[in-house]
Amino acid sequence: MIALEDCIFCKVVRGELPSDKVLETDNLVAFRDIRPQAPVHVLLIPKKHIASIQDVTPEDKELMGDLILAAQKVANDLDISSSGYRIVSNVGHHGQQTVPHLHYHLLGGRQLQWPPG
Ligand code: AMP
Ligand code: ZN
Repeated sequence: MIALEDCIFCKVVRGELPSDKVLETDNLVAFRDIRPQAPVHVLLIPKKHIASIQDVTPEDKELMGDLILAAQKVANDLDISSSGYRIVSNVGHHGQQTVPHLHYHLLGGRQLQWPPG
């Protein structure tokens, strides 16, 4: 557990850390990853602090749907919807999650490989 005031993505939400935002709504933010792994690499986060997918509750159902619809909009806006893309959310140690605030990676703009490492 980390204090919310120390969470870097909560800081992005509050504007205390600079970010390259591509979309913002009442309940979520999408911004470019600081270390992009593909030509398009956007992170989609809820404004509400949720540690990971594992911490989602039934009250977050609508929010989770909004994140997916936002990913679809960003894919359209950044012109990768026809070529295709990948949405990933790393969870915990084996998932190699490094920031404990739920986020979807939206990756595209090049041919991605499968399976991941
Ligand atoms: P994960 O390893 O799945 O938890 O993903 C965390 C992602 O956040 C990594 O891809 C980092 O490059 C990215 N990241 C960390 N800090 C920032 C930041 N201040 N702005 C944008 N992306 C960040
Ligand atoms: Zn947070």
